[in-house]
Amino acid sequence: MALSIYNSYTKKKEEFIPITPGYAGMYVCGPTVSGESHLGHARPYITFDVLYRYLTYKGYKVRYVRNITDAGHFEEEGREAEDKVGKKAKLEKLEPMELVQKYTNLFHWAMKQFNCIEPSIEPTATGHIVEQQEMIKKIIEEGYAYEVNGSVYFDVEKYASKYDYGKLSGRILDDLLETTRQLEGQDEKRNKADFALWKAATPEHIMQWQSPWGMGFPGWHIECSAMATKYLGPYFDIHGGGMDLQFPHHESEIAQSTICNHEAPVKYWMHNNMITINGRKMGKSYNNFITLTEMFSGRNDLLSKGFSPMTIRFFILQSHYRSTLDFSNEALLASEKAFLRLWDAYRIIQSLKTEENSISVDEELDNQVNNLMDEFEIFMDDDLATPKVIANMFEIVPVINSIKDKQIASGSLKAETISRLQLMFRLYLEDILGLQDPFKADNKKFSELMDLVIELRSRAKSDKDYVTSDKIREHLNKIGIVVKDEKDGTASWTI
Ligand code: ZN
Repeated sequence: MALSIYNSYTKKKEEFIPITPGYAGMYVCGPTVSGESHLGHARPYITFDVLYRYLTYKGYKVRYVRNITDAGHFEEEGREAEDKVGKKAKLEKLEPMELVQKYTNLFHWAMKQFNCIEPSIEPTATGHIVEQQEMIKKIIEEGYAYEVNGSVYFDVEKYASKYDYGKLSGRILDDLLETTRQLEGQDEKRNKADFALWKAATPEHIMQWQSPWGMGFPGWHIECSAMATKYLGPYFDIHGGGMDLQFPHHESEIAQSTICNHEAPVKYWMHNNMITINGRKMGKSYNNFITLTEMFSGRNDLLSKGFSPMTIRFFILQSHYRSTLDFSNEALLASEKAFLRLWDAYRIIQSLKTEENSISVDEELDNQVNNLMDEFEIFMDDDLATPKVIANMFEIVPVINSIKDKQIASGSLKAETISRLQLMFRLYLEDILGLQDPFKADNKKFSELMDLVIELRSRAKSDKDYVTSDKIREHLNKIGIVVKDEKDGTASWTI
């Protein structure tokens, strides 16, 4: 059976035929490590983790590249631009690389909690300044970029006269140029639609590098073009990311790489849809922003309790990646219940004994269970329809529960069907969907115990019993639990 994926560029479901037989190259835009990841960030990484796992299951040797944006991400507003990392470093009074390390560690920790497999290569923007400059030089040589006051901009109007600019995102260049004329003279760019490849830095700008155009820093889009080309070649199989990155980020990547490498860079563009919260777009301005540590600990007014990373992963996979996913506390509570029910059935399946079978096989039921399992791969092949796989599993759950409650005999299913159930549930739940045992180490009890330990330590601290509070902290540290004191006097912990 062949895998089909929806190509956001052609707007069609297409069969996945890799450029090199047996190999798959995949680039996914990684986080900007200037702050903590939130729930919306979790979705692309979980989605493409499932794709990575599924491609591997289908027998491909996958090279998965996911970058870390540690410089160059800024809002393009007029001549001045401030890098997100630099701006936040000033705010937190940290060295930029100290800030980058802090949020990269936190991101890695969250990915581990979600059981996301590490990418094959995780390049950073600051580690590839030379490659980015080389690419910019080529684009200038080709005549599609121009320099003004030490900054270099991509000439979108010229590009659009020859290539299909806006095809991926559906943006119409005429509309973008229309705004340009009204803003004439307010910007050093020739057109508002042009984007920065390199930005001149003022002396107080912390992160800056030497370049043929003077001291400055790279634009955000060029890093992904440069790193994808370096590790996957000028033309590679899959480029993924959130739908919000289609414009301007991915549209710009296509333009840069097309000019520099003389060919469009990507065979299949894939985008996951957004997460809304109680029906509204998630964002700081709506005050409905939930970080991942808040999700896990429950320390957010929108949450009645903390949710385990596996519950969140399951919740995300219960929707198709191209549908919007509405988050609410109730929806997560329902997911948690459903996930425990499913895993409970999985545990029962693993404990069923096949040798007791053979006498009273219910052919119809046996066929039905097998047909449901046959569809797992059909659904995954159909643009990763994870909700349908999960729905089929839930159709099997009552059969398993009936066996457990002895309403039907385990012999109602053929021995080979039981073996297949054991294999398929393990393969799909654990290996492909990447879910893990929610009962393991009894997470809930452990969390409550940790809350108690943290409370006792806080009490010791407020009683000025630093010997005890330090002892608790050091001991936890020794067993791999890090306690972090917050500014408001409270403390949090991470493993
Ligand atoms: Zn990117």
